[in-house]
Amino acid sequence: MLTDGAKVYRDSLVWDAHAGFELTCEADLETLYIWRNAGVDFLSVNVGFDVRDWPVTVKGLSLARRWIDEQPNIELIGTIGELDRARAAGRMSIAFDIEGMTALNGSLDMVRFYHDLGVRQMLFAYNLNNAAGGGCHDDDTGLTDFGREVIAEMNRVGMLVDCSHTGHRTTMEAMEVSEDPVIFSHSNPRALKDHERNITDEQAKACAETGGVVGVNGIGIFLGEDDICTATVADHVKYYVDLIGASHVGIGLDYFHGSAGSDDFNETLAGKPDFWPPEQYPGGAVRCAAPSQLAELAGELLARGLCETAVAGILGGNFRRVAKSVWG
Ligand SMILES: [Zn+2]
Repeated sequence: MLTDGAKVYRDSLVWDAHAGFELTCEADLETLYIWRNAGVDFLSVNVGFDVRDWPVTVKGLSLARRWIDEQPNIELIGTIGELDRARAAGRMSIAFDIEGMTALNGSLDMVRFYHDLGVRQMLFAYNLNNAAGGGCHDDDTGLTDFGREVIAEMNRVGMLVDCSHTGHRTTMEAMEVSEDPVIFSHSNPRALKDHERNITDEQAKACAETGGVVGVNGIGIFLGEDDICTATVADHVKYYVDLIGASHVGIGLDYFHGSAGSDDFNETLAGKPDFWPPEQYPGGAVRCAAPSQLAELAGELLARGLCETAVAGILGGNFRRVAKSVWG
């Protein structure tokens, strides 16, 4: 017999707004079955970040597009209508995201180019400043003229404007400028864990005012003292629910699978102290709560007094609503 949490989870659209692995080879893509086996309906897959040069993003896209094409149970989607059809047919839907506008190589045309290739979400700056704006671990000088033009183009083509990893000032300016709702795909509340990657109440409230959604991630050092317990993830979700309302909260786990990502990633981390300042990322492996914990999270949220409708929204309905208004 299913628990109430398992039932709500089974019946809900489950949306994970960001996968945390770095896409380098087919073995990384094979890990997408971890999400599918956990019952996730939609996953945004990261194809590049500011740490790499932009052609690496294009290479990742070419690999992922071919691999997904070959999977009978995983589908690249570009609209919510396509997602609904894939879900009805029992397939997990994928769209791509890019972490940082260095991938644009200074060209506005690249926004549409990436959109054509399946990118539906892009954030400004991965931890450090770039041509579009400021990063969360940098001396943020605000949204640049280029960043403003990129927002207008993202609004035009229908790509989610994402403020995760971005500096405080740039995010506040971006949320003023964007005509579409803005999201934080994977950013936890700073009130619960004082880390520069986490966001202030002011940022979360401004996001909700645009009509957007803030996604809670499962990274141990952003949740607490390397704490990936489901109850701790629920603490962060509940904090946002009380602050901005349940309809503005979602999930963006940032999960990566150990053997495919973590050793390599920890090496990358140690080799790029500018992107990951050692005082913000004290030694040891980065751990993340897994997609298999999401059903338990649903139960945990029900136990804390949230109604089934609110939990279903957090599991995916809220991100779906925003994506429908932006992607169509
Ligand atoms: Zn990230």
